[in-house]
Amino acid sequence: MKEEQSRKRRRGKHKKPQKTQPSLLPKHSTKLHKKTHQQKNPAHQSSSSSSSLKSSSFLDKMKARLAGGHFRMINEKLYTCTGKEALDYFKEDPELFDMYHAGYQEQMSHWPELPVNIIIKWLKERSSSLIVADFGCGDARLAKNVKNKVFSIDLVSNDPSVISCDMSNTPLRPSSVDVAVFCLSLMGTNYASYLKEACRVLKPSGWLLIAEVKSRFDPNNGGADPNMFSKAVCEMGFTSALKDFSNKMFVLLYFKKKENKSSNGREIEWPELKPCIYKRR
Ligand code: SAH
Repeated sequence: MKEEQSRKRRRGKHKKPQKTQPSLLPKHSTKLHKKTHQQKNPAHQSSSSSSSLKSSSFLDKMKARLAGGHFRMINEKLYTCTGKEALDYFKEDPELFDMYHAGYQEQMSHWPELPVNIIIKWLKERSSSLIVADFGCGDARLAKNVKNKVFSIDLVSNDPSVISCDMSNTPLRPSSVDVAVFCLSLMGTNYASYLKEACRVLKPSGWLLIAEVKSRFDPNNGGADPNMFSKAVCEMGFTSALKDFSNKMFVLLYFKKKENKSSNGREIEWPELKPCIYKRR
């Protein structure tokens, strides 16, 4: 998947219409299953059937283009508002969440490797007694693929096992989880408050696993300085355990919560994390 580095295509700027608009919907959803009169009756299989095929493919393209536009709009919204605003946005129209996730899955289908699978593998290599909180769980793929007890958290719940809330304010008890996961979910402008919430619910020596889109941590392209980000997380009461920049699409930053929080009382300086704006395909 290609992910746009600059913001020149963002809403409000002049855009040139593009020639090709491949689908952002799952491919099966754009197929026409109903047989037309012409298809049932071979005598009519001539230019009229080919023109109806042409118009259906035109319609499919238009639908895909609209779906892609909706996805990009919702995605940009989530990266440029607070978690509270995002919660209100989806509360007003929960269908937007499904639209977002259809587009998200389409984008992910172009990634050679999914960070959530790496985190699943990491968990499988450890004791299944570890309690996990998956902040911004999406379709709860993580919970579905491990034996651990997982608290899946997202803005909207389409599944009774998912806790729907803004993840800066979860119903989890303090010091109650062993692993807090943020897989491509540090979206809100107030992302630091999500990490503070994770710190609150993590037990001492608990793990904080972060996977984020690589360009958001690429200072040469307007991204944040990963060292500054890591320093801010450590000041909150963690030690850095792993920084993995080997994947083309995402970075992995793992931390361990300190046994004893030794705050120096200074305000933590969090770098701004730029939105991840997806390209039209
Ligand atoms: N972790 C999943 C989904 C990533 S998409 C995966 O790797 O596949 C990011 C998810 O974070 C979305 O489902 C979005 O709704 C959620 N999210 C973003 N901000 C949130 C917030 N403030 N509170 C709860 N969930 C949030």
